[in-house]
Amino acid sequence: MFRTKTCGELRISDVGSEVILAGWVQRSRKMGGMTFVDLRDRYGITQIVFDNDTDSALCDAANKLGREFVVQITGKVAERTSKNANLPTGDIEILATGIKVLNKSDVPPFTIEDNTDGGDDLRMKYRYLDLRRNCVRKNLELRHRMAFEIRRYLDSHGFIEVETPVLIKSTPEGARDFVVPSRMNPGEFYALPQSPQTFKQLLMVSGFDRYFQIVKCFRDEDLRADRQPEFTQIDCEMSFVEQEDVLNMFEGLVKHIFKYVKDIDFAEPFPRMTWADAMRLYGSDKPDTRFGMQFVELKDLTEGAGFAVLDDAEYVGAIVAPGCAGYTRKQLDQLTDYVKRPQVGAKGMMWVKLEQDGSIKSSVGKFYSDDTLRKWLERGAANPGDLMLILAGPTMKTRKQLNELRLHMGSELGLRDPQKFSCLWVVDFPLFEWDDETQRYYAMHHPFTAPNPDDIQMLDSDTGAVRATAYDMVVNGNELGGGSIRIHDSELQDKMFHLLGLSEEEARYKFGFLMDAFKYGAPPHGGLAFGFDRFVSILAGLDSIRDVIAFPKNNSGRDMMIDAPSEIDQSQLDELKIDIVKDPE
Ligand code: ASP
Repeated sequence: MFRTKTCGELRISDVGSEVILAGWVQRSRKMGGMTFVDLRDRYGITQIVFDNDTDSALCDAANKLGREFVVQITGKVAERTSKNANLPTGDIEILATGIKVLNKSDVPPFTIEDNTDGGDDLRMKYRYLDLRRNCVRKNLELRHRMAFEIRRYLDSHGFIEVETPVLIKSTPEGARDFVVPSRMNPGEFYALPQSPQTFKQLLMVSGFDRYFQIVKCFRDEDLRADRQPEFTQIDCEMSFVEQEDVLNMFEGLVKHIFKYVKDIDFAEPFPRMTWADAMRLYGSDKPDTRFGMQFVELKDLTEGAGFAVLDDAEYVGAIVAPGCAGYTRKQLDQLTDYVKRPQVGAKGMMWVKLEQDGSIKSSVGKFYSDDTLRKWLERGAANPGDLMLILAGPTMKTRKQLNELRLHMGSELGLRDPQKFSCLWVVDFPLFEWDDETQRYYAMHHPFTAPNPDDIQMLDSDTGAVRATAYDMVVNGNELGGGSIRIHDSELQDKMFHLLGLSEEEARYKFGFLMDAFKYGAPPHGGLAFGFDRFVSILAGLDSIRDVIAFPKNNSGRDMMIDAPSEIDQSQLDELKIDIVKDPE
């Protein structure tokens, strides 16, 4: 037997028993005639003691162990004299009677500790060592637990997991496809799925009724800090449902996960907010509702004072930062610099302070009387000691800037506690999004999303105002998932393609198979997909999804460990009939 116990399980009640442990040498220290070795495996760390007086040869062997050597230890469990309350095994130690080196190790390029000295790149290059660290391993354990609970919940509600192909034709999620050349069909390419969207709809036509899949999806996008070119979705679809059924089913899933993984109960139903309200009150379709600071609009109160910045603005919006009236000139300048950063893009920021004594100070005091400023503050329900921050400009742009400022203030004031969870549904998204550059409409979700039945008569006359039966689940300012009720009628689907500027031939070429399928009795259906990596990172209290993926890619889409992507052999290119055009530079 390699081991009788793991390095995480021995307790005071085991004192006196003979055990065999196996694991990695975390560290060893020599103190007088004693050598202490911390032995680590997936389950924990156990202290091993070698006594020079009892067995000097054995102690010599222990002194030769290097970090990350793999060893097997035989010994007897003893009570520690100086206990370590921070370690579950901290009451005991093993008095070693034997040691066997199973494998040596080079000195690792960084320390295998929670507070490692290894930088990001180094840890990614040696990810298999990084994964030995407790704090990283914990994330993968959480991921496993969540996947397990997701399957348990969905299975208990009659969902079946069906795998869909990875080598497919383009899917319409609006990003660039990764493509794979076909050797057997030279000049032709598969696309990797951006999502299994069309397949899950086909499965509904097949009568599967309740489908799910925890599935890899691929999108060739420029990577922002929290995106990965391959990521995992919890993809779901249901037949014979309305929006309400879908929301209830998957609110249940999210609550189940919180309960069984985090021991958090949400007694109340998740709030629902229309997209229009989310934009009006938070300037975002994924508002962080862990804190208030909702926007107030001041345009009607600012007019006619001869202050061009506000007079000429389409929109004047403000937030009230509680208890911030004491901000110094320097702090206010820093906030102004913050909103002026290119990532935020505001031209400037105005402020009004309601001092503790009820007096008012403002950066626009020259233009507005205290009475007027008091009206602004009243609209924002400001209390003495509060600070109002104001941005002005074109409506949508300014709302987005004010959203950034609100989030920034929320962070500054410590209102975005990662251990607090605030979930909501955002509903009634617009069906279309207008693009100025190409002068056409795009589907805000994807082209299979059904319009709100009340708005169908506006499809031609007021296209931009048509609402979709689409919904997003938002947690702590993150879009956790989203979906829609689908179009199941081929005539309406044709119309949608037409409104999206797809010619009949194009639509046939891209989605002919789905349109054909819809001719054979497609049931009403709808569904959604959750970003699984994001879900795990939120529950882990982490900002980045990279930390919850075993082998992630960096911001250039590169796997630093296996060094991919990489060039391929000329013979492979020849087989594929592909010529590489070298960049002349
Ligand atoms: N396929 C969609 C997505 O990946 C989700 C859905 O509509 O079910 O965002």
